[in-house]
Amino acid sequence: MEDRNDRKIWQDASVVLELIRNGCRRIAIITHIDPDGDAIGSSLALFIVLRNMGHNCHVISPNGYPDFLKWMPGNDAITVFDEEPEKATQFLGRAEIIISVDFNTLKRIKQFNDKVTGSAAYKLLIDHHPDPESFADCTISDTSASSSAEIVYQFFKHGGLDRYMDTDAATCLFAGIMTDTGCFSHNSSKPLTYKVTAELLDFHIDKDKIYSLIYDNFTDKRMRLLGFCLNSNMEVIREYHTAYIWLTRKDLQEYNFQVGDSEGFVNYPLSIRGIRFSAFFIEKEDHIKISFRSRGNFAVNRFAEKYFNGGGHVNASGGESTDTMEETLKRFKKMLTLQKESLSDDEI
Ligand code: 5GP
Ligand code: MN
Repeated sequence: MEDRNDRKIWQDASVVLELIRNGCRRIAIITHIDPDGDAIGSSLALFIVLRNMGHNCHVISPNGYPDFLKWMPGNDAITVFDEEPEKATQFLGRAEIIISVDFNTLKRIKQFNDKVTGSAAYKLLIDHHPDPESFADCTISDTSASSSAEIVYQFFKHGGLDRYMDTDAATCLFAGIMTDTGCFSHNSSKPLTYKVTAELLDFHIDKDKIYSLIYDNFTDKRMRLLGFCLNSNMEVIREYHTAYIWLTRKDLQEYNFQVGDSEGFVNYPLSIRGIRFSAFFIEKEDHIKISFRSRGNFAVNRFAEKYFNGGGHVNASGGESTDTMEETLKRFKKMLTLQKESLSDDEI
C-alpha cells in the first residue's frame, strides 16, 4: 500500500519537528478565510496535540465560521481575527512557530497576511491544494491527499507526535476528512485515506455523532432557503452539462441568513442527471463569492483561476467577482461558451 511516509514531502520537516520536540513553544495555528470542516478540524487537531505536548498554542481564523463547526473539541482556542484583531495580532506577534493549514496562498488570509510575512517565527505550511506559494520555511504539500487532516495525521505519525493524540484530536481529524470528501464521495479514491480513517476509528471516536453534528444540525430557515434557491434561482444549461444557482443579498435577508447556511448548496445541481459542472453565486457585502464543483475531467480550479481570480482543486474550487450579480452571471455564461469543447462533450 502507498504510504505518504515514504515520500519526500517530509524532507524539510526535520527542523520544525526539532523545534516542536525540544522545549515549549508559542505556536500560532492559522487557517483560511471562510474556514470549512477541514480547516477547523485540522487546526484544532494540531492545537490539541501540541497543547498535549505542553506548547502554548492558539488558533486564528480570519473570519467567523458556521455553528455546525463550533462543537469541535478545542473550539474555545480559536480567535476570529475580524472579531478580535488585537488579540489575534498579539498571538501572531509572539509566536515562535506559525503553522498554516489548509490553504497555500496569502490571499486566503488577507486580513493578516502582512503579520505572517512580517513575522520572524518559523513557518510551516501543511496543505493539499495545487501550486503552493512559497511563504513558509517548510511546505508539506500533497495534492493527492483527500484533505489537510489526512496529512496532519501523517505529520503526527512521521514526527512521533501521534503518541500525544487522543479521541478529541482524532474526532477533529475525522471531521476534516469526512467534510472534505463529501462523506467519502469525492477526493477519496486512495486507499491511504481509508487507512488513516481506520486508524482514527481506533481512537474510539463516535463517527455517527460527528456526522450528525455536522449534517443534521441546520436551522429550518436554512432548509427553506435551500428550497427557495433550487426552486427560484437555478438555471440548467443542458448543452454544457452545467447548472448554476445564486442568492442575492435580498434573498439572504428574507431568510435571515447566518454564516454557513449556504454550505453545501453548490453540490445540489450536480445531482441532476447529466450535469457535470455546477456553480453557486452568493452576494456578499462588496463582492460575489463563487463556488464551483465538477465531476470528471473538467478542471474547475483552472476555470476559477482564469476567469474569477480564484483557485482550488480540480473538482472543487472558488473565486470571486466585484461586478453585480447580474453582470457576474452574464459573464459566467459567456465563459461557458469559451469552454464549449470540454463542456459540451456528451461522454461522461
Ligand atoms: P468552497 O466552494 O467550499 O468555498 O471552496 C472549494 C475549494 O476551493 C476549497 O478547497 C477552497 O480552498 C478553494 N477556494 C474557494 N475559494 C477560493 C478562492 O477565492 N481562491 C482560491 N485560491 N481558492 C479558493
Ligand atoms: Mn481542505
